[in-house]
Amino acid sequence: MNHVLLYCRPGFEKECAGEVQDKANALELFGFPRVKNNSGYVLFEFYQAGDADKFIQQQPFSQLIFARQMFASSQMLTDLPADDRISPILEAIGDDVPKCGDLRVETPDTNEAKELLKFCRKFTVPLRQAMRKSEILYTKDNSKKPVLHVCFVAPGCCFVGYSYSSNNSQFFMGIPRLKFPADAPSRSTLKLEEAFHVFIPRNEWDERLAPGMWGVDLGACPGGWTYQLVKRSMFVHAIDNGLMAQSLMDTGQVKHHAVDGFKFEPPRKNVTWIVCDMVEKPARVAHLMGEWLIKAWAKEALFNLKLPMKGRYDEVLQDIENLKVFLIQNGVKFKLQAKHLYHDREEITVHIQRLDTRSPH
Ligand code: SAM
Repeated sequence: MNHVLLYCRPGFEKECAGEVQDKANALELFGFPRVKNNSGYVLFEFYQAGDADKFIQQQPFSQLIFARQMFASSQMLTDLPADDRISPILEAIGDDVPKCGDLRVETPDTNEAKELLKFCRKFTVPLRQAMRKSEILYTKDNSKKPVLHVCFVAPGCCFVGYSYSSNNSQFFMGIPRLKFPADAPSRSTLKLEEAFHVFIPRNEWDERLAPGMWGVDLGACPGGWTYQLVKRSMFVHAIDNGLMAQSLMDTGQVKHHAVDGFKFEPPRKNVTWIVCDMVEKPARVAHLMGEWLIKAWAKEALFNLKLPMKGRYDEVLQDIENLKVFLIQNGVKFKLQAKHLYHDREEITVHIQRLDTRSPH
């Protein structure tokens, strides 16, 4: 297999392709992307056999912004016969796929492709059986082993490949399934919840999203993000000139400050989380988050960078690079991840965890 297939939000194929090209070059694994606008995926073809496997091992998935999933892949299989789709798929797998612990029969995230999901669910059962029989799959699901992906892009057309469970998205189609909580004040609440799922390992939630912590929410109204913090029994300074949902104010866990988010300073330096969803220039928001971390006013930051109409990839690279330089020059040790989440539209979400424990100033 000398291709890598990456899923992305439809309409962001160019950004995803630009990113994978840069990362492949940096690893000295050479090839080129094939892009079809609004397809919800990018196929990257490497010149050398074996380089696709090197890429999915060496390129940390967590450091890709626009890809929701990546796996080493076959070329597109077309015209699968309706009476036997399984044989050509098994043939395409050949000898160079490691034995897998899970099978995901998926589609890209486009409306047309998603119409195939019902078929995918049904087809998974006989395909899994055939794969177990041919010893491509272990007889029991094993989340530590590689994952086999079959991605249907149209009826009778699919890609077949595998990802490593230590370096992929753990989610089917690369999308965490979240249910909108009926009592949340806005749909944006799912952006913050998804960010927690993607950026914070589940076994660290009790410690890093702990009851009693303080959070600051810049651009908080009507309160979808604040709701996520309140739900975890945290206290929140909600900063916005607008109105906060009364249900949140009634909890007694929220202090509303009708002031400019760029000027707010927390009254006590006991804040763990700074979150920010202000609709503002991304460079300005990134700089503000840098200042919060440099002053040690918060330990972890989660924020959106709203993307411009044009040059979206370049803007993101520039803002993140500037922010990293700003933090490094000020002696901050940190871990940074950025992702175009499923619930993000024309924006990406960035998470920074401060790794040192300096006292605030
Ligand atoms: N995260 C919110 C939620 O889940 O309900 C939605 C936030 S909405 C996308 C953006 C908010 O940012 C608006 O309510 C707006 O008033 C606020 N905003 C924009 N600029 C601001 C500033 N300089 N200071 C404070 N709030 C600001």
